[in-house]
Amino acid sequence: MPRFERPGPTYSLDDARSRLRSSLHRLAPVSIPLDDALGAVLAEPVIAADDIPSFANAAMDGYAVRAADTSVAPSVLRVVGRVLAGHPSSRPLDAGEAMVITTGAPLPEGADSVCMIEHAVLDGDDVVLEEVVKKGQHVRYPGEDIRRGSLVFEVGTELRPAHIGVLASLGVGGVAVFPKARVGVFSTGDELRSDPGPLEPGQIRDSNRHLLLALVRRAGGEPIDLGTLKDNETEIQRAVEAAVTTCDVVITSGGVSVGVADQMKTVLGRLSGGSLQWMEVAIKPAKPFGFATVGAAGVPVLCVPGNPVSALVSFEILVRGALRFMMGHGVSERTTLPAIAAEDLPRRRDGKVHLIRVIVEANEDGLLARPVVGQGSHQLHATALANGFAILPDGDGAEAGTQVPVLLLDPEDLPAAEVFR
Ligand code: AMP
Ligand code: MG
Repeated sequence: MPRFERPGPTYSLDDARSRLRSSLHRLAPVSIPLDDALGAVLAEPVIAADDIPSFANAAMDGYAVRAADTSVAPSVLRVVGRVLAGHPSSRPLDAGEAMVITTGAPLPEGADSVCMIEHAVLDGDDVVLEEVVKKGQHVRYPGEDIRRGSLVFEVGTELRPAHIGVLASLGVGGVAVFPKARVGVFSTGDELRSDPGPLEPGQIRDSNRHLLLALVRRAGGEPIDLGTLKDNETEIQRAVEAAVTTCDVVITSGGVSVGVADQMKTVLGRLSGGSLQWMEVAIKPAKPFGFATVGAAGVPVLCVPGNPVSALVSFEILVRGALRFMMGHGVSERTTLPAIAAEDLPRRRDGKVHLIRVIVEANEDGLLARPVVGQGSHQLHATALANGFAILPDGDGAEAGTQVPVLLLDPEDLPAAEVFR
């Protein structure tokens, strides 16, 4: 029997991340329609072609006036017309005159202010203004939001809905962004069954592929299902060689440990042109991890462990950041925030950082983290309840009531504590 050999060196999570990062490239930018760009990252700066607003207009419904005509309250002005949004006045406003104006309508030439409708009383052909109007009052001047020629958004900006709105206000119909990574996912394992038929003895359903495809989509990538493979070097090699011709990234699960049927390392060793890095990351779960760049385009192939919880953790901790980096994100890792441990979080010293799956709730004092029951790396059902990982450095763990850093998996959907009361 061959002696047991460690699959590779042990690295801290930070070291593993920076090794991975230095093997990655950003994807080549593409131009896409503005309405498809939510969540994408700008690959070119946007410079304003116009002032926004582009003309002086009313900020309120009321009367366009000359402030100088209202220096004593009340004042009486002759109403000489109406200016509605989209309909500029055909004549200027003269001394002693007012025009009805609606929000967003262009200020008529000669007017310099707006009196709110609430402070005015119509009296036949006249209007009585009950206040002294300050010059410029309720007027939105050109360029108050954006100046023509200025930098609107810089390279690296992740487009949220407000960004899309701003770009639309400038008449930008398309943007240059880093594209969604096309991410191929396959599973390996002789025991895996991908069709719905009854399981033979020893078989299990392939859950990781679906889990990982969903994680890719959630991370902003475009998932591509590459199926389930046997623990067979030839089959795996063919699949990797084909995948790197159509995908920007390939994720595999299973076969990364030191079992006799673990073939990924061998195959990638052959295909990687020396770029293969096979390692143990000093975390629990999800210790084994490997990656290489394969093919002429240097497509990253990232190998996560087969245990479903480990596959999920490995994705969240290592793979997601890699994908987000390739898609142009500056900050590509999940947010970590301090939370209070709702229970003791005991652990042994073993040189690793432990990632405890927790339910995180927000309350008036901040965040509260409660471990899910079932922390085994095969217990995906328990993990599905969690919305965060409490990060426990090597040591004796954390006591109830003390602060622990928590990595949030769904920061946008953090439940308020009341929901659980
Ligand atoms: P491996 O990393 O191949 O040694 O697999 C570790 C454990 O994860 C074993 O119990 C496998 O049966 C299980 N496993 C591997 N791949 C999958 C998968 N795609 N879906 C569900 N379980 C898996
Ligand atoms: Mg296996």
